[in-house]
Amino acid sequence: MEKGARTEDEWRAMLTPEQYRICREKGTEPAFTGAYWNLKDAGRYRCACCGAELFESDAKYDSGTGWPSFWKSANAANLRMERDTSLGMQRTEVLCGQCGAHLGHLFEDGPPPTGQRFCINSAALRFENA
Ligand code: FE
Repeated sequence: MEKGARTEDEWRAMLTPEQYRICREKGTEPAFTGAYWNLKDAGRYRCACCGAELFESDAKYDSGTGWPSFWKSANAANLRMERDTSLGMQRTEVLCGQCGAHLGHLFEDGPPPTGQRFCINSAALRFENA
């Protein structure tokens, strides 16, 4: 069992229905509706489910997509990537490496220096002020 893992009943009790739908059922929040897509405050973003440190505000940028976007992770060991062929697309799914929560997707059209775009649901994150 993964570190930070819980039973489905435990996740349902811990998370809001929206968080459960996104993090445990691989859902997506509508663009421009989440709590963090336009947040510019300094701080770090943790996994909403288990608290693992995922992204820093230093690597957040305005991608124009309506979802929180980062050009690098805070700690690659806390993320897990998987191939996602759902909806007839070839995408890279981004999951929390500690608890397995679905976070969003990784695209290769981000800004320098990495060229990466981590497109993450606000509902999968918990912001912590610096
Ligand atoms: Fe997690």
